[in-house]
This record gives sequence, structure tokens and C-alpha cells, in this order.
Amino acid sequence: MPKILSNDDAYDIQFSAARPSGDWRVDHEVLLEVERLLGLTHHIRIWRVGGSHTYGAYRYKDQQHWITIQTHLDTEEANKTFWHELVHAQQKERQLSDPSVMTFRQQRKIYRYEDRPYEHEANRVSEAYSDKLKVIVDA
Ligand SMILES: [Zn+2]
Repeated sequence: MPKILSNDDAYDIQFSAARPSGDWRVDHEVLLEVERLLGLTHHIRIWRVGGSHTYGAYRYKDQQHWITIQTHLDTEEANKTFWHELVHAQQKERQLSDPSVMTFRQQRKIYRYEDRPYEHEANRVSEAYSDKLKVIVDA
């Protein structure tokens, strides 16, 4: 079972027991800056896990953002992936505060994965900012 290694008001980080450390880490200062930039107000939980072919995942549960990043990614990929998932967190908060915004579920009903507006936006923002604000850096 994963265990919590660190915990503060902004987020906590949980590692998979099988792969306790990777080549990269979260830069906490930069993450706080990015949270402010994206206007995120909810708690963020970050999971580093191994054993999947996906890059990352986003879920909203218990009024918290749950972001999963795969340990096999290199630093640059992990940073881009984290940015992508943080944009999903921003989108979720937008959906929660404005009922006229189309939800993830509504978009999934209408669009195929590659056509979903929320995925396009996440890729666009990640591409634009991930090189400038590195939330994931070499360990
Ligand atoms: Zn996505």
C-alpha cells in the first residue's frame, strides 16, 4: 500500500511501495506558484505509481484533486504530464463553480478522446507553460 511521505496544506505526495523513488521530484515552491496561477483552491494529492503504460491520470474525489504520475516517465515527460493533469484540476474547479461549463462526463458522451476540448486545453496549457514553470525537476 502507498504511504504518505509528506503532507502540508497544499498537497501531499504518496509513493508506490514497489517503486519508492524515481529520478525526479516535485518542486514544492513552483507547485505553489502554479496553483496560484491556475487559481486552484482544492487540496491536491499526488501519487507516483509504477506499472501502467499511461502517463498520468486525474480524478476528483472527496473534494480533492487526485493526480497520478507514472514513475517510468523521465523528468521532462513527468513535468508535462503533471501540468496536463493540473489543468484538469483547474477545469474541474471551473465546472464546480459554473453550471454552464460542460463537464468531463458531458464531453466524454459527445467526443472521442482525441477530440475532447478539455484534453486539447490541457495539452495546450501544458505545452505553453511546462518549460517555463517546472513543477517536476531532477531529484
Ligand atoms: Zn487529460
